[in-house]
Amino acid sequence: MKGKNNQLYHFFTTELMNWNEYDNNREMPWKFEKDPYKIWLSEIILQQTRVEQGLAYYNRFILKYPTVTKLAKADESTVFKLWEGLGYYSRCRNLLATAKIIAENHDGVFPSNYEDIVKLKGIGPYTAAAISSFAFNLPYAVVDGNVTRILARFFGIETPIDTGQGKKAFSSLADTLLDSKYPAKFNQAIMDFGATICKPKSPFCATCPLAKNCFSFKNEMTSFLPVKSKKIVKKERWFYYLLVQYKNYVLIRKRDEKDIWRDLHEFVLIESTKKESIKKIINSTGAKFFSQKAMMVKPCNTLFKQQLTHQVINASFIEIKLIEKLPLTGYFWVHKKEIKNWAFPKLTNDFLKENNF
Ligand code: SF4
Repeated sequence: MKGKNNQLYHFFTTELMNWNEYDNNREMPWKFEKDPYKIWLSEIILQQTRVEQGLAYYNRFILKYPTVTKLAKADESTVFKLWEGLGYYSRCRNLLATAKIIAENHDGVFPSNYEDIVKLKGIGPYTAAAISSFAFNLPYAVVDGNVTRILARFFGIETPIDTGQGKKAFSSLADTLLDSKYPAKFNQAIMDFGATICKPKSPFCATCPLAKNCFSFKNEMTSFLPVKSKKIVKKERWFYYLLVQYKNYVLIRKRDEKDIWRDLHEFVLIESTKKESIKKIINSTGAKFFSQKAMMVKPCNTLFKQQLTHQVINASFIEIKLIEKLPLTGYFWVHKKEIKNWAFPKLTNDFLKENNF
């Protein structure tokens, strides 16, 4: 049995490396990059972001902060503004924190071993393996959604990929398969293979070099593997933003809740777990403080929607023009012309764009 497994492992790695050598045409702007800072930056940007979208951000970051020490010295709000639109802002916060740690504790030199890299803020086993292998050719296998999909399908593994047991099993198998002489090439190959051949939907099994020994292909199981233990139930949230204005000024605040929009800015927000009528919102305690001193209250007709991994956000905007400048704890007045200098969540930016703010 062990011998049979070894043969299968050997087949997998050999065929994958051959495919990479002769047929892998996937072009990535940061492919073959050896600078750990640039690899790190690209990997962090690519978490939850498509390559096409992430590329422009990557180029802008490299241009403005060509080294980790330059990033460590950067002004926080400028970095957040540069990140605006990418979402999942904890990535940006960790990027800055890690740059500072490298500047202060490692003399501005990116650590060159896996143990030190994986200790850095915002760097998990996947990113640490990518940096270790691509920059320093160290034998650490990357394991992400692409990799678990290929392994689950090829070896017919039904262990759910999102359980502790599954993560351990896939990681150990990937380590076994890794070409220890060429870890960087192997990791690049398996990531590219998952993105272009063994894709989540409609994989190219008919022309796949692994098909001959692929469990899923032979047993028509491709659409059933990999297995996930739970389906994500999305929470629906309703955001009613009050655009409180006085002359050319608008009221905003920096969000400090520990969520994905922390450190971004927002208008006065009334949140509900269900859809409410605009009339009810305007008459609610939160809005009454302003509507009593308003010369105009006007809802914006468009409903803005955003699908996130675990939640769906619906946002409505209501303009309130005041007759006097009211103070509100935690909020500050910003001139409309300067609103573009502040970083906002995506839905607010969509609104600002559509309304030429
Ligand atoms: S044969 Fe199909 S399912 Fe199997 S590894 Fe190739 S592309 Fe993936």
